[in-house]
Amino acid sequence: MGRKQFKAESKRLLDLMVNSIYTHREIFLRELISNASDAIDKIYYKTLTDDSLTFDKDDYFIKINIDKENRLLKISDTGIGMTKEELDDNLGVIAKSGSLAFKKENELKDGHDIIGQFGVGFYSAFMVADEVTVMSKAFGSDEAYKWESNGIEGYTIEPCQKETIGTDIILKIKENTEDEKFDDYLEEYRLQSIIKKYSDFIRYPIKMDVTERKLKEGSEEEYEEYIEEKTVNSMVPIWKKNKNELMKEDYDKFYEEKHYGFDKPIRHIHIKVDGAVSYNSILFIPEKMPYDFYTKEYEKGLELYANGVLIMNKCSELLPDYFGFVKGIVDSEDLSLNISREMLQHDRQLKLIAKNIKNKIKNELSNLLKNERDQYEAFYESFGRQLKYGIYSDFGSNKDALQDLVMFYSSKEKKMVTLDEYVSRMPEEQKYIYYASGESNERIEKLPQTELVSDKGYEILYFTDDVDEFAIRMIMVYKDKEFRSVSSSDLGIEMEENESESNLNEEENKELFEHMKNILSDKVKDVRASKRLKKHPVCLSNDGEFSIEMEKILNSMPN
Ligand code: ADP
Ligand code: MG
Repeated sequence: MGRKQFKAESKRLLDLMVNSIYTHREIFLRELISNASDAIDKIYYKTLTDDSLTFDKDDYFIKINIDKENRLLKISDTGIGMTKEELDDNLGVIAKSGSLAFKKENELKDGHDIIGQFGVGFYSAFMVADEVTVMSKAFGSDEAYKWESNGIEGYTIEPCQKETIGTDIILKIKENTEDEKFDDYLEEYRLQSIIKKYSDFIRYPIKMDVTERKLKEGSEEEYEEYIEEKTVNSMVPIWKKNKNELMKEDYDKFYEEKHYGFDKPIRHIHIKVDGAVSYNSILFIPEKMPYDFYTKEYEKGLELYANGVLIMNKCSELLPDYFGFVKGIVDSEDLSLNISREMLQHDRQLKLIAKNIKNKIKNELSNLLKNERDQYEAFYESFGRQLKYGIYSDFGSNKDALQDLVMFYSSKEKKMVTLDEYVSRMPEEQKYIYYASGESNERIEKLPQTELVSDKGYEILYFTDDVDEFAIRMIMVYKDKEFRSVSSSDLGIEMEENESESNLNEEENKELFEHMKNILSDKVKDVRASKRLKKHPVCLSNDGEFSIEMEKILNSMPN
């Protein structure tokens, strides 16, 4: 087979990655180890679900080999391997166009490594290597293949010799430059510390031949060196560790390792439950919205493990849609390995876990709102809409869980306020919770309809999201107070005789009103003298069930 070119986009991304200065080149090792671990997960899962296969724990490991003389670093795994086609498919295309555009836009903004987020983890190898060789033998195959590339001129695939199932990744480490000491990546201690830092919780042993020293026999001061194979990682997954052993940085690192996002999570929730159903979980509330959050591509869900074995990457049953932004993992001993997607939906254990998780997230958000207002507002800016959709969907069945978490801009406070804050400030005689809908706060401020309510000194909530009014209609009553749009014809405000400056008498001007009504016949139902206006000559009001803004939205919806 001849040399193949990378797909055009892959090439551009490769250039971008290799040539941009990454502060953390060392993460290449994390990426390759995580691929190796994924590959072992896959074969492990096969042996557990197929009775004809047996499993011996000792057969599954990752091994790191250093060949200083030839500047080679080898990462081997006993995972599922790749066929010729898989080598071509998986290593020949780097990223999808959307993510490339995204990366370009974002790479300068913050220093985070977002490489792996787009399935480009493997290519990070080219940050430290001039040449990458992949030798692989797939599970169930007799043939092995070698994939080779120098990153620029494409790649070749040809048959090769390999005895065991699995994959060897061989990196030809770059020569030192003025800025970067690539030699480091051939040093035992350096590699060990990188593994400890990023891959400690990988569940399979990461082995390495390590040079040790011991006193020479019969000598008190003379040492001799010997080589010993050591397992470098502690192998305890982070979610099984005790909370008090862990720092915020550990969770942040895990979030990054898992490519949950390129931001830093604003909160993590570490759950250990022993009870009717036992499980461990780590959940994250992200800071920023993923770039594809509102696209069809976005898939909510948590990673699901059954007693340490990954059974699903995105288990959507574990999260309600309105918490679809939450990332994380769940590991439970009470789930069956053979569980299928269809069965999961009806699984009692899983339902219990999901309910529990939902409450934990809700409580965490309540605490955030109570104790770290700024952070909550930043969160709300990203995901508030999601919560409001949550109230609206399922016929309002979630409103109790969510109504204390929503916020709206207040005419009086000039900032976001909760419904509770609004109600607690209401003067005795104020009947309703007032709101005004419009495109933006600035526009709502200018609405004539707000005049009377504001003059009374009452606070108005500004609804600028399409979903706002729909959500509020599901809540209907909050702490015994009903909601009322400022454009409603009945505002529940008592008018004193001389309060309105309007001296238009409807009876005396009957003809004028009739005339206006005729001209506007296809636009309005009636024209009346208003007592609610001060500065503005005219305004729209409505008697119907829906506010003017809501009617606009309803009319714009396809039938
Ligand atoms: P990601 O891991 O996000 O899918 P990568 O660029 O890291 O993206 O890897 C691309 C794909 O190549 C993987 O999804 C996997 O199918 C395959 N792959 C990479 N390394 C290995 C390996 N050591 N063993 C088996 N398959 C691998
Ligand atoms: Mg990967």
